[in-house]
Amino acid sequence: MLRVVIDPGHGGNDPGAVCGDLREADLTLALALETARALGGYGAVVYLTREDDRDVPLAARVALANERAADLYLSIHCNAAQNPHARGFESYVHPAARPCTHAFRSAVHAAAASYLAQYGVPDRGRLRADFYVLRRTACPAVLLECLFITNAADAALLRDPCVRAGLAYTLARAVARATGLAD
Ligand SMILES: [Zn+2]
Repeated sequence: MLRVVIDPGHGGNDPGAVCGDLREADLTLALALETARALGGYGAVVYLTREDDRDVPLAARVALANERAADLYLSIHCNAAQNPHARGFESYVHPAARPCTHAFRSAVHAAAASYLAQYGVPDRGRLRADFYVLRRTACPAVLLECLFITNAADAALLRDPCVRAGLAYTLARAVARATGLAD
């Protein structure tokens, strides 16, 4: 049985990036809930680090993955920048990530970048960073930065429930394919 932790970034007193009425914490939750539902449809056991707007310390997010002996950990974020022209999709693994983590990231990244390309969203690349949730998770862990809430075109896509649902389904299918749950 495949166990996957989906981590909607931020929440509660930490809204993440904010631009106008868009809050990163709301968008990551919406994306994560839909991704979890879709992935459950493939037969995976999915754990969410939060299912509503609440504070969850980073240590608790990692502990969920480690205590449930998760096979995969996927953290969902949205990006922000001072430069309003900055936009796009990027993914992160830890600098010391193992080959299996890179393979998992590649599968998810390729699928998401390809889905978003149809909306003109640039692929900002497969990156590495020493983020806490990537460093402390025992299983392969990937963090996604899904579009910039500070860019008008990206923000319009993030507001669109159909675009979000499509991205969530794309992520779920990529995980299912990478793990043999789907063809
Ligand atoms: Zn974030």
